[in-house]
Amino acid sequence: MSRRKNKSSFGVLFLFALIIGGALYVYTSAIFERDVPVVQMENNGYWNLKKPLEISINDASGLKSYKIILKTATEQKTLQHEQYVTPQKSLNVKVSPPKSAYAMKEKEISIIVQATDTSKWNLLNGNSVIKEYKLKIDKKRPQLSAVANSYKIKKGGAALVIFKAKDDNLKNIYIQTNFGKIFKAQPFYKEGYYISLLAWPVTENSFRATIVAIDNADNIAKVTVPLYLKEKKYRTSYIKLSDKFLNGKIAELAEEFVETQGVTDSIEQFKIINEDVRAKNEKLIHDITSKVSTDMISNFKMKKMYPLKNAAIVAHFGDHRKYSYKGERISESYHLGLDMASNAMAKIKPQNSGDVVYADYNGLYGNMPIIHHGLGLYTLYGHCSSLNIASGDSIRAGTQIANTGKSGYAMGDHLHFGVLIQGIEVRPAEWMDSTWMKLNISNVIKDAKEIIDRG
Ligand SMILES: [Zn+2]
Repeated sequence: MSRRKNKSSFGVLFLFALIIGGALYVYTSAIFERDVPVVQMENNGYWNLKKPLEISINDASGLKSYKIILKTATEQKTLQHEQYVTPQKSLNVKVSPPKSAYAMKEKEISIIVQATDTSKWNLLNGNSVIKEYKLKIDKKRPQLSAVANSYKIKKGGAALVIFKAKDDNLKNIYIQTNFGKIFKAQPFYKEGYYISLLAWPVTENSFRATIVAIDNADNIAKVTVPLYLKEKKYRTSYIKLSDKFLNGKIAELAEEFVETQGVTDSIEQFKIINEDVRAKNEKLIHDITSKVSTDMISNFKMKKMYPLKNAAIVAHFGDHRKYSYKGERISESYHLGLDMASNAMAKIKPQNSGDVVYADYNGLYGNMPIIHHGLGLYTLYGHCSSLNIASGDSIRAGTQIANTGKSGYAMGDHLHFGVLIQGIEVRPAEWMDSTWMKLNISNVIKDAKEIIDRG
């Protein structure tokens, strides 16, 4: 009795173990996996019905089929449908809108993605996923037009542009150039209007600026700023390096810089200072002066600049300096400021108010304050002997900010005066000329406001 009972209960136990084992096998086996396919679509909720939608579908056990449906308020339309004999682990599907879509009146549609994998789970049907993406339809390009701009731009110089950019879903506006620089624009005066200073770098042979407006659906509008280009020849100076200079100023600077530690050859020292140290110092300047506020401004009034009274010009902006030693070309650089000199330790007083964004030592530039006057326009004062201001200060027009000197790479006491627009050095001469400033800055702003006010 008890033996038989034992026998049969053993049989039940065995069957039970088999079922559990089988279930465990199904439950843990890869061919019975229960993970649904992963569907992803790159989108920000907008579609222009031009750019194909990019959808990725991934599944560990492999995909058996997928279907992509366009759903509107009135209909559902299959855009793509695939069934695979060989399971696909990863799919990147590009979905173009149907030909009829462009005439569609709907403001919002849905894209439904269905995908099924090859798992034996779900009574051999596999795991399925359905994902729905709601997309706002925006086929309209942003409205874009130049409102007013400077008539011309000179090589090495600046110009101003004011433009209108309107779109219900405006994502980005900027000004593209032929030399890779992108200028930012600042909101101006009334909603939908923008202003930007532009700069033609002295090292570039041509200039073209194109305003670009992009909306959330990636509709793009472009308008080229209609500027008359004016050539300007800049000087090339051939400078012979003397032993006196190399053993004097260069040896002195070489002791100071990290880059020249352990370098004993004076020509090598000069090259490192003129190229590597200069590049590092200029990068700092360009980084600081690239910033533009996103606040709306309604005016930009600048007085003619003249930071040093009764000064003589001792070196010009844009000089291409080529250095040689004993008849051999050694190095070159551009002089990107205007050198002015009067008395030693003369008072430096900017004529325009602004915010001090830097007031410290910067290698070749010595003690160097930088002031932001708004709209991405900065002024820089190199080789100072002493500084009266600190970073973060706001200064009024006429404040004495520093004294001239010969700190950094300077032979005699002078001021290296730099003007920068969004990180690009421009000719200080333009900003020291009241006629140029009236024609290119204040008149453009006045004209633009009149046009904007007329609606
Ligand atoms: Zn200089």
